[in-house]
Amino acid sequence: MSAISLYAKASPDFASKLAHTQQLLRNAAQLYAPLTQASSLGAEDMVITHLLHTLGIESEIFVLNTGKLHAETLDLLEIVKKHYGQERAVRVYEPDATQAAHFEHRHGEQAMYDSIALRKQCCDIRKMQPLEKALAGKKGWITGLRREQSNTRAEVAEVEQQALRTKVNPLAAWTWGEVWHYIATQAVPYNALHDQFYPSIGCAPCTRAISLGEDFRSGRWWWEDEKAKECGLHVDAAPKIIPIKEIA
Ligand code: SF4
Repeated sequence: MSAISLYAKASPDFASKLAHTQQLLRNAAQLYAPLTQASSLGAEDMVITHLLHTLGIESEIFVLNTGKLHAETLDLLEIVKKHYGQERAVRVYEPDATQAAHFEHRHGEQAMYDSIALRKQCCDIRKMQPLEKALAGKKGWITGLRREQSNTRAEVAEVEQQALRTKVNPLAAWTWGEVWHYIATQAVPYNALHDQFYPSIGCAPCTRAISLGEDFRSGRWWWEDEKAKECGLHVDAAPKIIPIKEIA
């Protein structure tokens, strides 16, 4: 079944929400350049990439190719490079091959299931270290975080001042229905896994399809406790939340 027919649903205030998001991105481009977008090639990130493209906003897009992504995600990466990569850089960051091979040799290919510590070590090698490289020299980065995604994301602000740069979450207030309404009406390319009940997409060993009624992020690291379910990309000790009027 197509994800569009399953999820797309505009809310009555969608037009004003979209206008607000567009303004937020324009402001971010002025205030936090050089800017980059972190894309996992999930639905939210595709909406942001499309918005950057249609608004002509100068921002790089980066993808962390952990070496464990689904074939469908890699297919979409090629589409993104072709479709959006003409007027902006689409950069792909990979883990250090020696470190990744050493980790697997020592702990096995299934190490992420053995303990949270090993899972986090794998995320550190395959995600956190490449992330650091992707963000080097950037003043701002854009993510697809939404408050609705999980309890741990319920307080996500649209703009957060981190120690080294500013993080912009332009879809913080969007619903899942609105994300898909935008994808449907703007013909945004999306990950084929969404048609197979994968709402949240990450590495293949750590992502599964969900059943009707299951929580949005229940397909990620499903064997772990709810509070542990972040890879570290979006964990910040004490971000300063910038009220929207300060950047408008
Ligand atoms: S999500 Fe899973 S496979 Fe990907 S880096 Fe983390 S532990 Fe490793």
